[in-house]
Parts: sequence; C-alpha cells; structure tokens
Amino acid sequence: MTTKKPPVIWLNVAIFTSTFLVAAVGAPLYAYYVGFDWSQVVMLIVAFSFCGMSITAGYHRLWSHKAYEANAVMRFIFAIGGAFALQNSILHWSSDHRVHHRHVDNNDKDPYSAKMGFFYSHIGWMLREYQASRYSDYSNCRDLQKDKIVMWQHKYYAPLAIATNFGIPLVFGLIHGDVWGALLLVGVVRLVLSHHTTFFINSLAHVWGSQPYTDKNTARDNGVLAFLTFGEGYHNYHHIFENDYRNGIRWWQFDPTKWLIKSCELCGFAKNLKTCPEDRIEKAQAKMVLKRMQTKLADVPNSQARLERLEDEYNMLLVKMSDYYAAQKRMLELKKKRLLKHYESFEFLQQYNEMKRLLDEQRKTWKTLTAQYA
Ligand SMILES: [Zn+2]
Ligand SMILES: [Zn+2]
Repeated sequence: MTTKKPPVIWLNVAIFTSTFLVAAVGAPLYAYYVGFDWSQVVMLIVAFSFCGMSITAGYHRLWSHKAYEANAVMRFIFAIGGAFALQNSILHWSSDHRVHHRHVDNNDKDPYSAKMGFFYSHIGWMLREYQASRYSDYSNCRDLQKDKIVMWQHKYYAPLAIATNFGIPLVFGLIHGDVWGALLLVGVVRLVLSHHTTFFINSLAHVWGSQPYTDKNTARDNGVLAFLTFGEGYHNYHHIFENDYRNGIRWWQFDPTKWLIKSCELCGFAKNLKTCPEDRIEKAQAKMVLKRMQTKLADVPNSQARLERLEDEYNMLLVKMSDYYAAQKRMLELKKKRLLKHYESFEFLQQYNEMKRLLDEQRKTWKTLTAQYA
C-alpha cells in the first residue's frame, strides 16, 4: 500500500528552483562575460547581512523567543529585512519555529524535523503541504499578534517581499549603472545564499557538530555554521536555553547577532536582554561530560571503582557549584544595595573568595579525571 503524498506547493518549488538555477548558472556566466566589480560584491554582502540578521536577531531571537525587547525602529527594520529574505511573515515563521522547539525531532509535529532526513529538514518540508491544518493557526503567537508591526508585515507580506526583492537591487543597479548585474547578484544570488544558510540551521545544525549541553535532541554546536549564519550555529546551546539572547555564549564564539543586539542595547534601541544563569550552563555541561564518561567506562571491564570515583567527583562538583553560585548571587545583591563596605560583608567576601577557590580546585580535579578517562 502506498501512502498518498500531500499536494505540491508549486509556488515554492518554482521560486526555489528558478532562483537556484539563476544563481548557480546565470551569475557565473554573467561574471565571465560581463563581470562584477567590488561595489557590487560589497552590496551583495550588505544585502545578505541585512536579510540574515533580520532573521536571526529579529524573526528568531526577538519574535520567536522573546530573548529581548526592541523598539519600533528596530522592529520595523527587521520586518523589512525579513520580507527581503523571503522566508514568510514574522507571524508564520515564529509560529513554525515555536512548534519546532516544542516538539523538536517529533516527525508528526516538528515542521522541519531533522529525523525526517537532511533534504526534508533543509527544504523538503516547504515543497509540499505537509501540515496544512497548521498553516493559519497562530494560537501559539498570541503575544506577537499584539505587535502592530508584526501584523502589518503579515498583512502586506507579499507586496513587501516583491518590493524589497526587486526594488532594492533595482535602485542599487540604477545608481551603480548595471541593472542586470545588480538584479543577478544582489537580487538572486543574495536570496539563494540567504535561503540556504538559514535552512542549514534546520538541516546541518541538527546533524553536524558537538553536543556539549544536551543530547535530548539532535541539535548541534558548530563553529563553521555559526560563521555562515551570523552566530546561529551554536544550536545545541540554543535548543536547551532558547530564551538566551546569545547563541555563542563565550566571548570568542562568533555570534554577530549577539553583538548586534548588545550594541542596540547600548544605543537604547533594545532592552531586557535575557541570559541563562551561569550555574545552569555549567551544570548542563558537567552532566554531559559525566554521561559520556559513564557510557565509555561501561564497556571497560572492572571499571566499577573508576565509575564510583567519577560519580563522587561529579557530585562534589555540583555541591561546590551550588555554594559558589549562591554566594555570588548574594554578593551581587549586596553590591546593588552598596552594602559591601560593612564589616559583615567583608567577612562574607572572604567566604565568597574561599568558595571560588574550592570550586576552581574541584573544576581542575574534574577536568584531569575526565581527561584521563577520555
Ligand atoms: Zn533546531
Ligand atoms: Zn530557536
């Protein structure tokens, strides 16, 4: 018995196929016979970044996850950039994405479940009406329906998408003097690059990379993908701490979206940036290390004693983390109230430093021990 496949969405098939062919064949031919200059390449990068960051900072971290608040100017810019990126309206995108997080890897519910295979999670899910009943159900985005910019963009999405995708390259082409070159490079090549790098988050970022924070889902951390996607490649972190405005949480991790949001906060355009408490992050990481070591040692004969030692050190690490982070929290509160000058606070400060020292020692022991079993 064969199961009937849902109807094809011909508009999407036509857009994805034609733009891909023009970018892969037309643009190189044009480059060979006519050529592009540096200003066109710079405009391609600017337009690509505008689309990319409107999706990552706007559609994703602002609207889907409410990881921070942005003023109307920022929201308007992201709404325009999102239409330019041609990834459906904010409302529709966010609704899909919230379902993805809620039911990640569940083939019946996750709209782009990675367990359906690479092609499906990358682009296949948009080529047929797989979950048609859900398409106009925005009940998981009631909060977004109160945002006038979101609703305005949803209502006028089609004209906005056409106006930006033809208008921006056309205006640039007229100023620069090569309209066809601009339509090809800033219009089509930019769109294809923007599409597929974003789609990589649903496909590649769920199969390629490491799982330092959780293995409850397929999401991976991947620095290469982060480079291509304005920081969204740290997807393993993102799937466990989704309300954090950062995806790459370390200062050295490439996450331009986090830098953009932070800069907007400094300019007064964004506020209430959410971050996950450091202790939860460290505990999640330690738990994953323990899990991996336990699996490894399970295959080694006579490893009972080593397993016990590992678990003891892990429990000690958790206790010391709890002590230290509780003291840190109290210290921040005292600092806020400017009470640290008092004698009692001085004693508290000494205790705090001692807890920090003990935790650092335990971290070292844990690191050496787990490295030895690795
Ligand atoms: Zn995901
Ligand atoms: Zn997300």
